[in-house]
Amino acid sequence: MKKLVIFDMDGTIYLGKDLIPGSLEAFQYLNREKIDYVFFTNNSSHDLDFYYKKICDFGIKCDRNKNFYSSTEIAIDYLKEQGFKKLFVIGNKSLKDKLSKDFELVTKYNEKIKLDAVLAGFSTELVYQELRDACLYLQTQDVPFFATNGDYRCPIENGLYIPDCGGMIEWMRLATNKAARVMGKPDPQVIYTLAKMFNIDLKDVLVVGDRIYTDILVGVNAKVDSVMVLSGETKMEDLKKYPYRPTYIINSIKELPDLLKKI
Ligand SMILES: [Mg+2]
Repeated sequence: MKKLVIFDMDGTIYLGKDLIPGSLEAFQYLNREKIDYVFFTNNSSHDLDFYYKKICDFGIKCDRNKNFYSSTEIAIDYLKEQGFKKLFVIGNKSLKDKLSKDFELVTKYNEKIKLDAVLAGFSTELVYQELRDACLYLQTQDVPFFATNGDYRCPIENGLYIPDCGGMIEWMRLATNKAARVMGKPDPQVIYTLAKMFNIDLKDVLVVGDRIYTDILVGVNAKVDSVMVLSGETKMEDLKKYPYRPTYIINSIKELPDLLKKI
């Protein structure tokens, strides 16, 4: 019996503004059976309050502090677990404020300061000095390099996009020959961290999503069972393009309770 289900949102629970039929009933089933669930997003363009409000407005029972995580929380948790203390961070003030509770943030390049890690997040407050100093640290110290997400672009209104973290870390890679470890799906740390937070064995974790190269691959990478829903981005015929497979395939979240009864 699965005890924790990690959900993707768009394409899995809803499509834009529309709830996918059967979603409400699926969450009622999980609540009745006391199966925990988490809404996880790689998207750093909205904060978690945005998703909390959206899921609440659909009438799905959820708790802001318990059920919502993004790759930013995974990165922070992982850096803490590693015992890192001194970080150089590229990111918005909100990210830096969050980090400053647990880490000492170095703000300038100084060859005498020994860093523990460089962390890059989506920054709409980017200044060149930050990129420059981060690149100097990456070249002069054998320091690990992390990113909160690898998206190249972030959707805004009217079908337009603005540059996101993925392009920034690519720019840094070209300057330093060091690639960032991107902490969202498909990095297995997402699953390890969430399973640990809920104190649940990996064999009792199920990941559900519509995108094969993130939602399903994170399950494959962490060796946990995965369910692909065909209600979003990936269609049955797309599967043959990938060398890995989901453990289960269902048409939509509507079929999830029946699947959970069988596995
Ligand atoms: Mg999706």
